[in-house]
Amino acid sequence: MCRPLEKYGRSHLKVTELSGQFWCERQVALSLEHPRTETEEMACGSEVHKRLMLELVDEVPVTLQTAEDELYLLMLNVRTGLEQLVKDGKTRELFVFGRAGAFPVVGIIDEVSLDHGRLTLLDHKTRTRPTLPPPPSFLTTEVQVMTYRKLLDDLREGRYVFDDFMQDRNFQESGDISPEFKAQLEAAGVYERISPVDIAREVFGKFRQLPPVSDFIIIRYIHQGSGNHLGDKVVLYDQGIIGQKLVHALQFWNGEREARGVGFRERWKCNYCEYKGVQCRE
Ligand code: SF4
Repeated sequence: MCRPLEKYGRSHLKVTELSGQFWCERQVALSLEHPRTETEEMACGSEVHKRLMLELVDEVPVTLQTAEDELYLLMLNVRTGLEQLVKDGKTRELFVFGRAGAFPVVGIIDEVSLDHGRLTLLDHKTRTRPTLPPPPSFLTTEVQVMTYRKLLDDLREGRYVFDDFMQDRNFQESGDISPEFKAQLEAAGVYERISPVDIAREVFGKFRQLPPVSDFIIIRYIHQGSGNHLGDKVVLYDQGIIGQKLVHALQFWNGEREARGVGFRERWKCNYCEYKGVQCRE
């Protein structure tokens, strides 16, 4: 059996792909070949995330030309987020990188706050119904936020460092940003004479200086229609549990087994799936 990332020319996994396997693994596998179409619910969720992010930062639209531009922008955003976290006690949409097994993984943490010398992760979920979710959807969320916490802690503890990142991204030391991108940054007043690789090195140094991460991760539920806060749930980070879940999930990415569809008791999930009856005939 071939390994799915190689088959689809992908360099890394997303945290949401790993967690999505605990909703329906076949759905994740199908999304590689048939990218998911954005439903009204997903669009509304993205809108809420963007609104929350813009409460803390201004957005500057830019056009990227090269891989160096991408790296520079990514690292500039992460550095801004880390500085904001230390200075103001909170940041949103923080990119994190690392590995699950041998696979490079990336994720975006909705919110990290700093209080009493500890970092706390928070994830926003939007709900169409004005109720908290039932247990089957909560497992997916648990895997998602525990993976974020693992990645952030690996960066903080130096278990995933600058050299690992450069190797995973296959970046070379040389190379500056394109003149077009530089002109856009200058116009926005955010250009700094530093190479993309040096800004990445700086970012990894800043991760190492972060204080410890709390084992309690907050999930905040927001009603899509009204925007009301429905309530919070707390996930207690458990290294053993997330380790086992990732081992199971990675068997699929390693090409050790086919993707599994939902079990008999979870067939109701298929009613919310765009692949039902077309690419998937469960
Ligand atoms: S139809 Fe059901 S089993 Fe098939 S991919 Fe969708 S959720 Fe999974």
